Formats: sequence, C-alpha cells, structure tokens
Amino acid sequence: MKEIIMVKYGEIALKGINKKTFEDMLQSNIKRRLKKIGQFGYERMQSTIYIEPCDENADADAAVEALKKVFGIGAIQKCRVFPKDIETVKANLGDCLKDAFQGSDVKTFKVEAKRADKTFPLTSPEIQQQLGDAVLDAFPNLGVDVHNPDVTVRLEIRDNGAYLSAKRITGAGGMPVGSSGKALLMLSGGIDSPAAGYMMAKRGLIVDCIHYISPPYTSDRALAKVRKLCEEMTDYCGDIMFYCVPFTEIQEAIRDHCPEEYFTVIMRRLMVKIANRVCKKDGYGAIITGESLAQVASQTLYALGCTNAAAEYPVFRPLIGMDKIEITDIARRIGTFETSILPYEDCCTVFSPKHPRTKPHLDDVLKAEAVWDFDSMIEKAVEGTSVTRYKYGEETVFIE
Ligand code: ATP
Ligand code: MG
Repeated sequence: MKEIIMVKYGEIALKGINKKTFEDMLQSNIKRRLKKIGQFGYERMQSTIYIEPCDENADADAAVEALKKVFGIGAIQKCRVFPKDIETVKANLGDCLKDAFQGSDVKTFKVEAKRADKTFPLTSPEIQQQLGDAVLDAFPNLGVDVHNPDVTVRLEIRDNGAYLSAKRITGAGGMPVGSSGKALLMLSGGIDSPAAGYMMAKRGLIVDCIHYISPPYTSDRALAKVRKLCEEMTDYCGDIMFYCVPFTEIQEAIRDHCPEEYFTVIMRRLMVKIANRVCKKDGYGAIITGESLAQVASQTLYALGCTNAAAEYPVFRPLIGMDKIEITDIARRIGTFETSILPYEDCCTVFSPKHPRTKPHLDDVLKAEAVWDFDSMIEKAVEGTSVTRYKYGEETVFIE
C-alpha cells in the first residue's frame, strides 16, 4: 500500500485573499528541502499539501524529519492510500495502525471520515461506524472516546483513493521563510543569537547573519564555531548569507580613544552602524539581536537605549523578555546548544571593561564617541567584509 505525507497548514490557513502567495512559498520551501531526499510529487487541496514519494530513494520517514523543521506547517501526517473499498481498508487496519496505538498512554480513539468523493456508497457516519468496529476488533483493549480521544483515525475518501492516517505530528508552526522579507541577524558564538534567529525565521523572515571578528584577539576556531552555528541554523532557516566583518581596528581605536566604562556600549553602537550599512546595501528590512533585558551590563534598559539610537532599521529582539533557561531550551531544541557552549572567545569579551556603565546616558556616549573618526573606519570595515553562502543540508568542515 502506497504511503504518502499530508502537510496541514498552520497560520496560513487563516489568511484571506493573499493565501495563495503563502501557499506557493510554503510549497517551494518544502520542495527545496525534500530535493535532497528524493523525488516527490505534490498536490494541493483544502489547506493541505499531499506529498507522494516518486522513487525508491524518496524515504517518507526522512521526509517527515525534514518537514518538522519547515516553518508554515501546522501538522504532518503519514497516510496509507487504499483502493476505495471499505473491506480492503478494514482488512489492513491492524497493520497500518499498530504504530499509532503503541504505548501505554493510548487508551482511546475515535474515527473521523471525510468524503470528498460523494459517489462513494457509504456516508461518513457509516464509514465511521464500520471502521470503529474494525479497530475495536483489531485492538480489543482500546475504547472509543469521541470527545477527547488519545488517537484520531482518519479516513478520507478522495477521487483517487481512500487515505488512512492516525499519527499527527505537530509541525514547526509560524510562517514560511521568505514570506515576511529578510533581516540581518547579529550572530555571536553564544547561546542566544542562534535562538533569536530561529524565532524570527519562524515569523517568515529570511535570516542572514553578520558576525564581527577581531583577530588576533579572536581566533580562527572562534570563527569556525560561528560558521558551524550558521550551518546548523540552515535546518530551520534555509540558505543563509554570512557576512564576516573585520572589527579589530575599530576595537583598538575604542580602547585607545574612549573612556573604558563606555567601551562596550560604543562597540555595540558601531556594530549596529555597520549592520545599518549592510542592510542598506543588500536590502534588509531589520536587524535581529539575541539581547535579553538585564542579562549583562550591555543589556540594561539604558544600554539598550544607547545601542538602539544607532540603528536606522527596526531592531528585533525576540528574546528580550526571556530568561536564560527558556533561551537554552530553545537552543537545545533547535540543535545549536552544543556548538554554542564550545569555549571560544567572542570579540565582545576583548578589552571588556571591569566596570562598565550600567546606566549610560546617550549624550555622554555620543560625546565619548565623537573624539574619533569612526565613520571612515566603519566604511573600511564594510569594504573588508567577506560573504559566504551556507546552503541548506550541505556540511561545512569544522576544524577543531
Ligand atoms: P549570545 O549568547 O548571543 O552571544 P550574550 O549573552 O553573550 O549573547 P552579548 O555578548 O552581550 O550577549 O551579545 C548580545 C548580542 O549582541 C548577541 O546576542 C548578538 O546578537 C550580538 N553580538 C555579540 N557579539 C557579536 C559578534 N561578535 N558578532 C555579531 N553579533 C554579536
Ligand atoms: Mg555573546
């Protein structure tokens, strides 16, 4: 019996006249992800995409694993396709449903029938009745619960067959990547920024990354770690452009010419100013950071105010109200945590002051910054920026 995958929309299902644009985007994102696995056929109907493996390599389980990380999907269901004959379905029920009924927590079920093909001789209630009885015969320990079942068995009678499914996997939710435009994530090697990128990709943004390095104070290994994070993020974000900015001269100038207590806040403002340039040059609509209120001195309300004043684009801080445990949970779930905790230095820790101002005033920061011509340094840093493209599913080598 042929096995296919049904993908149900998440939020897209609620869209109005522009729904088709979102559906097209979701389908092309899915196609791009599954291309690596094998050949699949696609059909779309009633807020569902039907995905059918078309060659031997097209492994349905591998496809489901990849689909779990595609934003815009509400639920994923594998189903078996039968001829439109209720006796054949009943005869194969036990075998098809044993996975879904496995486990001691499964005690009840219900059957839901949908008849898209109205020429089918049985009505939906009749199908439900007959299948319900057949399930009880095959699994005598189960009971029926139509209100709150542990498992819902679904049979859809469609033009080209009867589709039986039971296990529903929750999708990644959100909106298809690309449907909200594109933004630039300030990616460090830490735990927070990859989680921030994941959250904004979930809202439909293409997330590209900008990273600042200060060799020789920061090492090749530290950069390799950030590149690895970028590669890991492609699982959810799709392809990522990675901008690597030489930041050493700027940091040395801050060290040599600015008061130590303002080092960090000035450094962050200059990072943002460089991000502004890249946004303008390459068409990004926002900057994303992994900042969380009160986490460190540079993330107090006052410091964030000073950093924000340097931005010419909206700054999205999806982690602003989260604590470290919540952020860490996300990082673990999306698979970036283990890389993030590798102990390499970030340029933020270079020349970091012993006593940073936790309540800097913008006027004072601007005065401290004005003593040096940072604008021309920013220009030079942008010119020296290298760009790499990380493609979904392609491994890059991480040298430890
Ligand atoms: P993270 O876990 O993201 O590193 P953190 O707790 O270490 O966060 P900070 O080092 O203060 O916090 O950085 C705050 C934010 O500034 C980061 O989330 C990231 O968005 C940005 N950032 C810090 N260092 C860099 C860097 N070298 N390149 C690009 N962005 C950076
Ligand atoms: Mg950091």
